[in-house]
Amino acid sequence: MMKKLIIVGSGIAGLTCAVECAAQGGSVVLVSPYVSERSQSVMAAGGINAALDTKGENDSILCHIEDTMRGGAYIADRKAVEGMCTAAPEIIKWLESLGTVFTRDEKGNIDLRAFGGQTHRRTAYAGASTGKQIVTALVRKVREYECRGLISRRLGMQFHSALINDGKCYGALFYNEKEYKTEALYADAVIMAVGGQNGLFGKTTGSLLCDGYAAGKLFYQGANLKNLEFIQYHPTTIETPQKRMLISEAARGEGGRLYYLNGDKRVYFMEEKYGERGNLMSRDIVSKCIYDAPSQVFLDISFLGKEKIKHKLNEVSDICDRYAGIDVLRESIPVYPSVHFFMGGLSVDRNHRTNIKHLYAVGECASMYHGANRLGGNSLLAAIYSGKSAALSAVNEPYEDRKPNFGTYISENERKISKTLSAESKFPAIYIKQELANIMNENLGITRTGDKIKKGIENIDYFLSISDRLNFDSSISPYQCYSLEGMIMLAKAVLMCAGERKETRGAHIRDDYPESRKELECSTVISYDEGNYKISFKEEV
Ligand SMILES: Cc1cc2nc3c(=O)[nH]c(=O)nc-3n(C[C@H](O)[C@H](O)[C@H](O)COP(=O)(O)OP(=O)(O)OC[C@H]3O[C@@H](n4cnc5c(N)ncnc54)[C@H](O)[C@@H]3O)c2cc1C
Repeated sequence: MMKKLIIVGSGIAGLTCAVECAAQGGSVVLVSPYVSERSQSVMAAGGINAALDTKGENDSILCHIEDTMRGGAYIADRKAVEGMCTAAPEIIKWLESLGTVFTRDEKGNIDLRAFGGQTHRRTAYAGASTGKQIVTALVRKVREYECRGLISRRLGMQFHSALINDGKCYGALFYNEKEYKTEALYADAVIMAVGGQNGLFGKTTGSLLCDGYAAGKLFYQGANLKNLEFIQYHPTTIETPQKRMLISEAARGEGGRLYYLNGDKRVYFMEEKYGERGNLMSRDIVSKCIYDAPSQVFLDISFLGKEKIKHKLNEVSDICDRYAGIDVLRESIPVYPSVHFFMGGLSVDRNHRTNIKHLYAVGECASMYHGANRLGGNSLLAAIYSGKSAALSAVNEPYEDRKPNFGTYISENERKISKTLSAESKFPAIYIKQELANIMNENLGITRTGDKIKKGIENIDYFLSISDRLNFDSSISPYQCYSLEGMIMLAKAVLMCAGERKETRGAHIRDDYPESRKELECSTVISYDEGNYKISFKEEV
């Protein structure tokens, strides 16, 4: 019988998974609040990694694997990384076959740019809009399957919870924002593709639609989370009132140089410390060096010239002009590290199965390939590879033929949502998201200490203690109401993992434990059981 799959989230990971499930003969419902063109995936400008070696530099899949393992401070699952890096060249061909137009060099080969932490030029790109082009190509393919009745898309649907009975997942409950009611969808398997946890931190480079709620809720429902303490600060962003705009690593990949001023003299601190490739060290290292710099750090790309900037870094010059009034041909860009990517997320096996049977996770919401720090260009690759891997497993897995009745669970949660909306209380929810972001930013910055983390946990505990008594005014949507509790739970789990990892590794830099510890060369796994958060360390193989 045809397998029925629900995919939650329609960024690059969800779209890929939907296409691959349909190609395998599955029937897919692709659910998200907004169209794919509004997912964070469209923001990806820099590119996607694959050892294509079109530059004749003797790059290889092995080098890609080693760079990824080293970049992640050796705690990623090596076998999973091997699978991803080996599949990468085929994935580029597949994307081309779907219509993604990768930029080519003067010889007609796919052009590759240098990205941080990589020993060879390995990042393929589609002008300055790689993510947009991949999304467009995948959406076109999804439409084809839609016409054949294999995929249906449901918009305006916010995830509420998974329908779980006896450790197995049978579907998911959503809030239908168009019809103002909850709606249960049943399936053989549910695949989460809901992106990262940007919402916990407020101003980041990414989309606030990725708020971490689903991961928090599933954690509450029994799913394990992994490596939450590893939060990537992108070294080069510019401040705007609403968010941090990313200055792509491509700017340094094409030759851009970081410096600060000592009097009138430019100090190229990355090159002084790390040599010729200093500006392209991995992001954890560059961010920490910028953080330690004695004065404002600037990025200079002016000397690359008008033609190169127009051809290869158009988006960078556009962002600087539009958001900061900077003409990159004449001026350097003042840059700051900002929260960008989450190496942690739902804990999955190599087939992207969570510890709850028939519940999968793919893309940025799953933790698998990046260890303690992600290399630029590896995230799009992981989103696609994980989407394909999960599809293969979900469509071919055997399923039981009986479905428990979730009627009571659904009506109880419907009642809870309407009760929350009408609750009278002195704790206005509207401030809590901002407060949550303040706590996370203050206590989980580029460097951390045990004392700060402890203070963060105490503050979060206070919010948890009042989370069932919040006051929502009518300007807040039901989703924003019920999602707060899951976000607060996730925030606590992140802080607890950061507190438990008493060492410095990758993006987790502890002032009070500045060295790496061999015995902690493993992943942090956190689970929740009746009010208790339990953390263990798990060695990947
Ligand atoms: C500015 C920027 C530039 C980047 N550049 C690059 C790059 O050049 N190369 C690279 O490899 N990586 C890059 N990244 C990272 C990369 O873009 C992301 O990690 C990747 O696109 C994530 O894809 P995804 O499908 O997992 O998630 P997303 O694209 O974030 O999609 C998540 C989906 O889930 C939906 N969703 C969220 N919450 C819910 C909910 N509660 N209910 C239902 N649906 C929900 C969203 O609406 C969306 O459809 C960049 C990131 C940023 C922010």
